[in-house]
Amino acid sequence: MRVLEVASEVAPLAKTGGLADVLGALPSALSRLGCDVTVVLPAYREALDGRHGPIEPTGWEFDVAVGTGTRRATIWQSRLAGRHGGADVTVYLVGHPAYFDRPTLYGGAEAYGDNAERFIFFSRAVLDLASRFEQPYDVIHSHDWQTGIVPAYLKALPAAWPRLARARSVHTIHNMAYQGVFWHWDMLLTGLDWRHFHWRQMEHFGKLNLLKTGIVFADAVTTVSPTYAREIRSAPGGCGLEGTLASRGDALVGIVNGIDTDLWNPAADPHLPRPYGAADAVEGKRAAKRALAERVGRDPDDDRPLAAFVGRLAEQKGIGMVADVAARLAAGGRVRFFVLGTGDRHAEETLRRLAAAHPGAIDLVVGFDEGLAHLVQAAADMLLMPSLYEPCGLTQLYAMAYGTIPVVRSTGGLVDTVVDATPEALAAGRASGFLFEHADAGALAWGLERALELHADRPAWERLVAGVMHQDWSWARSAAAYRTLFERVVEAPPHGGRIRLSAVGAGAGAGGGASGEAGGDFDARDDRAEREA
Ligand code: ADP
Repeated sequence: MRVLEVASEVAPLAKTGGLADVLGALPSALSRLGCDVTVVLPAYREALDGRHGPIEPTGWEFDVAVGTGTRRATIWQSRLAGRHGGADVTVYLVGHPAYFDRPTLYGGAEAYGDNAERFIFFSRAVLDLASRFEQPYDVIHSHDWQTGIVPAYLKALPAAWPRLARARSVHTIHNMAYQGVFWHWDMLLTGLDWRHFHWRQMEHFGKLNLLKTGIVFADAVTTVSPTYAREIRSAPGGCGLEGTLASRGDALVGIVNGIDTDLWNPAADPHLPRPYGAADAVEGKRAAKRALAERVGRDPDDDRPLAAFVGRLAEQKGIGMVADVAARLAAGGRVRFFVLGTGDRHAEETLRRLAAAHPGAIDLVVGFDEGLAHLVQAAADMLLMPSLYEPCGLTQLYAMAYGTIPVVRSTGGLVDTVVDATPEALAAGRASGFLFEHADAGALAWGLERALELHADRPAWERLVAGVMHQDWSWARSAAAYRTLFERVVEAPPHGGRIRLSAVGAGAGAGGGASGEAGGDFDARDDRAEREA
């Protein structure tokens, strides 16, 4: 089966969050399962700088229709290293310097004013590129709003890409809160007919909505955990698109992300001072804690429990709650805090003030630092994730792989991946973290207090640490769920019929104990028949 993965981020070439990690690992896991996978992303400045391996020119250039004009696409080539014996995966990068030779991917807090144009160009260029290959693709798998128009092009402009006539589209939602909403005149950039600009397709409250477009036109829609798949079918999880998701019936399946165990493996992590496994986690984590303390100029012998936060400083991540709890507990001296993140200026300022007021109890590093993220995950005892919502979450999975116990709010993928340490779950060896319900600092503090209480019982804590480190969150299981989905989508009759997806959802890692299942039958009918009628 030939699969084309289309996304705006692919680790390590270009990353702002979990989307990149998924695209860095899923293609190789699929290729291990026998799929022939190609990946395409934009040729951003940071991707072309060669830091992550050679990027070669292909010599291919072509004009891509954007609005009434054209823009030149230049194609580059790279490879994603195969994982666990899987083959290397070819990556194409679509270049157009005026769009992508910029300091950041999307413009940061002030999004670039031409983001619609940049990603409409990219999506269209990908299809132009894909249709140059003699061997057609079976599945085109797009991700998030940036490539939401890809399924629409396949359905609404089939004559433009005859080689892709049989390709089926799967669209994955990594976060409902980012929808790619643009003024209606950007519809002109797409080259699609205005008759698609209505509330059942591309329009949402008068605006062009690219995530909605992907949801409406794709043959199958997935999101990154079964619980999130349920949450987004109603408000507030659906962020206004709950009606659209409902209109596709059960055409939505949740598949939990995996982790790249080549990159996130404490036994072979170049960012750690001393590699470790479950058997010597105490020593390995102690060495990491010393290294982290030295890095920020703190006492390396301070062995108080360390609670960390690694992630975007965004409201979604509950960073305000982390700040409140740190402020509340710092003076007590029983626990230290470490925050690594970047994002919201106001949150950064609050945390800076707190760190200055509590030296040695609260440390903050503002910035995006991949190596430091690994060191923090190894050094910490607990990882705080009080997310308001969390489609899947990868940091809690990395934490567990590194023997760090997640303290998480009971939402989205966190529910599907963390088993609360109740006495029963602890006794059965199924526990993996601490869950709390309410989105407030009191609830997070309660979760952290429970963790600290167990931490004081060394043998019980070490059993918990060893237990989480033995879980398997590798991509193998989730990639198999994607492949099953792809097979069903490809087998479905082109103009209708229902695809049975109920057995597709991948809930939890083998060791996780949590299980989740979302999805059911979904209607593969596209609107081609309707249009042709
Ligand atoms: P999201 O995609 O919502 O940001 P995830 O938990 O799915 O959240 O993925 C976040 C990814 O980004 C993880 O790989 C995490 O380690 C990484 N990350 C987030 N912030 C930073 C940072 N400041 N420095 C290094 N890595 C970071």
